[in-house]
Amino acid sequence: MKFNKNRYSEMIYKRCGKSGISLPIVSLGLWHNFGDVDDFENARGMIFRSFDLGITHFDLANNYGPSPGSAERNFGKILKEDLYSHRDELIISSKAGYLMWDGPYGEWGSRKHLISSLDQSLKRLQLDYVDIFYHHRHDPNTPLEETMTALDQVVRQGKALYVGLSNYDQVQTAKAVEILNELGTPILIHQPKYNMFNRWIEPDLLNLLEDKGIGCISFSPLAQGILTDKYIDGIPANSRAANEHGFLQPEAITKGLVNKIKKLNQIALNRGQTLAQLALVWNLRNNAMTSVLIGARSVQQIEENVRCIANLNFTEEELKEIDKIISEE
Ligand code: NDP
Repeated sequence: MKFNKNRYSEMIYKRCGKSGISLPIVSLGLWHNFGDVDDFENARGMIFRSFDLGITHFDLANNYGPSPGSAERNFGKILKEDLYSHRDELIISSKAGYLMWDGPYGEWGSRKHLISSLDQSLKRLQLDYVDIFYHHRHDPNTPLEETMTALDQVVRQGKALYVGLSNYDQVQTAKAVEILNELGTPILIHQPKYNMFNRWIEPDLLNLLEDKGIGCISFSPLAQGILTDKYIDGIPANSRAANEHGFLQPEAITKGLVNKIKKLNQIALNRGQTLAQLALVWNLRNNAMTSVLIGARSVQQIEENVRCIANLNFTEEELKEIDKIISEE
């Protein structure tokens, strides 16, 4: 398989906090459209094209599919068949914490769950190690020391190179950072949900991450596709809101939301961008943000989204106008 020789000069890479790792400012997540209910050749095409565009970071979790685990299995197959010679050019992440198997150890934050889950992920991915292993969500019933010690252990075992936290709030993150620093395995990156319609990480969590030198990669930066022009005239058949396996409910696309999308779309057009591109660079305007973690159903969506890097700057007026639109009742 031959890839674009210029891929690394065409993408922008940003240092992840104060670590040694740089990530592409657009990364690809495999939550939807890579499972065994999906078209394998389309999935393969999206991975190839992403890599060709300079996307070096692919994000997975134990439970991505459906069926749970099948996204890792499919990615592992694509990697082994066609990308294995490029393994050292890739940052591959996985996670544990959400429900994956029956019984008391199939979810949350015990050492048993994390270590067993990573072993399963490595088998599905056909890898010896992942680059980043995340705890997927905070567990209120397991001592944080137990969860963090498990993360430290997988790094010491060589099963992960770095560790990350996802969906932890600012207080939980601060405590976890302290424990991991003491253990000698500092956290590389945090993965929170963040987009124009969900700004919960501003400013406290973002400030903490910047202050501690931790990277940040936002998931659902397009609000699962709402922050694109696709829902302006209703719900198209080939959309997540219309998909029986999708996590986006059609009821979420309200009239009020569509009004805001139309106004945001106009700002994007005035900048010579699509709404998807505007939503991504809006995320990246934060200094603390390392990368936006997009999902996609097609090569065309990935190409469009990566082209956002052509215009990363905002005027004060544009930012004010966006704030006004998204805070309208
Ligand atoms: P997005 O907000 O980027 O939504 C992706 C969806 O938007 C696509 O599947 C597609 O849906 C639509 N879309 C993308 N680009 C375009 C475009 N240019 N024009 C029109 N529609 C477009 O992200 P996701 O919600 O998919 O999340 C991204 C990744 O984040 C996941 O794959 C996963 O890796 C990670 N994640 C992590 C979580 C966590 O708890 N840590 C939770 C959720 C996600 P369609 O065409 O089907 O409508």
